[in-house]
Amino acid sequence: MLRTHNCGELRIENLNDSVKLSGWVQKSRDLGGLTFVDLRDRYGITQLTFNMDENQQLCAQARELGREFVIQVEGTVIERSSKNDKMPTGNIEISVTKLTVLNASKTPPFTIENETDGGEELRMKYRYLDLRRNPVQEKLFLRHKLAKEVRNYLDGAAFIEVETPVLIKSTPEGARDFVVPSRMNEGQFYALPQSPQTFKQLLMVSGFDRYFQIVKCFRDEDLRADRQPEFTQIDCEMTFVEQEDILSTFEHMMRHLFKTVKSIDLKDFPRMDYADAMRLYGSDKPDIRFGMEFHELNDVTQNLGFKVFDEAELVVGICAKGCATYTRKQLDALTDFVKRPQVGAKGLVYAKMNEDGSIKSSVDKFYSEEQKQAWAEKFGAEKGDLILIISGNVNQSRSAMSELRLHLGAELGLRDKNTFAPVWVTDFPLLEWDEETKRFHAMHHPFTSPKVEDFDKLESAPGEVRANAYDMVINGVEVGGGSIRIHDRSTQEKMLSLLGFTVEEAKDQFGFLMDAFEYGAPPHGGIALGFDRMCALFGGSDSIRDYIAFPKNNSGRDVMIDAPAPISKEQLDELFLQTKPAK
Ligand code: ASP
Repeated sequence: MLRTHNCGELRIENLNDSVKLSGWVQKSRDLGGLTFVDLRDRYGITQLTFNMDENQQLCAQARELGREFVIQVEGTVIERSSKNDKMPTGNIEISVTKLTVLNASKTPPFTIENETDGGEELRMKYRYLDLRRNPVQEKLFLRHKLAKEVRNYLDGAAFIEVETPVLIKSTPEGARDFVVPSRMNEGQFYALPQSPQTFKQLLMVSGFDRYFQIVKCFRDEDLRADRQPEFTQIDCEMTFVEQEDILSTFEHMMRHLFKTVKSIDLKDFPRMDYADAMRLYGSDKPDIRFGMEFHELNDVTQNLGFKVFDEAELVVGICAKGCATYTRKQLDALTDFVKRPQVGAKGLVYAKMNEDGSIKSSVDKFYSEEQKQAWAEKFGAEKGDLILIISGNVNQSRSAMSELRLHLGAELGLRDKNTFAPVWVTDFPLLEWDEETKRFHAMHHPFTSPKVEDFDKLESAPGEVRANAYDMVINGVEVGGGSIRIHDRSTQEKMLSLLGFTVEEAKDQFGFLMDAFEYGAPPHGGIALGFDRMCALFGGSDSIRDYIAFPKNNSGRDVMIDAPAPISKEQLDELFLQTKPAK
């Protein structure tokens, strides 16, 4: 090795040891007679000293070192005269006797320190330099540790990791596919998997019983802050199970991860069905770190003369404890917040409970004191509380109120990133009506089984059928989701037909799966957890990008390697792809 020790391990116990270290020059300080260099590697920083009196030539050589030079030094561990108790190696330094420059470095485009002066775009272009910084490296160490504990846990529970193909066939459901042209099959394309869904089901048909894979998935979607075109899932499937078995297995896994990675003991995960999640939080991924649940107010606000409420499908409110002190300005800011196009409410009504127990609202013209007291009762509101009300169509007002609740929760400091509040959301609807295409889509995916008790509604009221589908939600983040699958041909055919597939299309797309179902397919189900999101959650960050070694930016570009990029005319020809005619 080019070193006897790394840059983070030498201590006072090593005094007088002869050592050899290699690393990067973080910075150097020239104090005339003495030159100090901070030598950095993945493990830490060790201070080097070069003494003019002892070796002039060596000292001169040290003065030439620039930031990020890669060097090797030999020397002796000595005690520091001024110790630094903030560094694990802060009691010692190396009195250098030999210096070798292993490689010079240009001055980096930003400082490679915990706090850097580099902007996002620049750091992404030089991601390999950004990755030299400690806080960034730590995020990938966390990722590694989580992956390792996932494997430990699942291996211990008899799951086996199986790789599934990356070049597969495009399917119309779900998001848009990334496609890869086939050189050997003119005019034909592979697709990159959005998930290994059908393959893992086939592995259950094959009798593997318990499968998992930490696997890249690809979705060609418009990107948001927490989305990447390629992302990683912990993909799992189990045979001879019911929903309860999956929930229990993966709740245990998550608790194992919190225990081993963060030393946090999580209690049993509460359960909430989809209908309640929507009714109480206006979201299928409720952040239950704090209460502030919705109350529906139709019965106490309608038909009393206020047209806006009278005409609304839903009048829904939340109660913010102790917020009656909000000023006009603060209330206006909340109103502006809910009226933003992304939130979409038409307005916001407030009611403050004064110290004397009376209520002052923004709609006092329409409601008597007694009528307003009836609202307060719904919430069990107390003196000093603030009630906020939104009205309109059910889905829109719920979603706007959910945004307002999260916004207020953050403003009031109720969304502490070191508190973890998991919840299972269950009983999702099987189908979702899409106004644009005027047809049903599978809410989870077309392989999800309907609840037996709702089977008779499949024809008569498909929108009301509930699925054996569940999501794991932590702090308002959908960490994962899965379902118990259909495992017989006729139900699968029926499902595909509900989704608007013709018999031919169904056979063409999913014939292989339905054929497999005819050869003794066992009951099975599974889940996939978003691994990047999980890492961000464990690391206390909102952005998954920080936890990916080489992420794409918001336009789906890798600005370091400059991809995507055009390909040559020869490549295009070989792939039977046309170039755009010259303009
Ligand atoms: N394949 C599903 C997904 O990617 C997860 C599952 O049902 O297991 O969302």
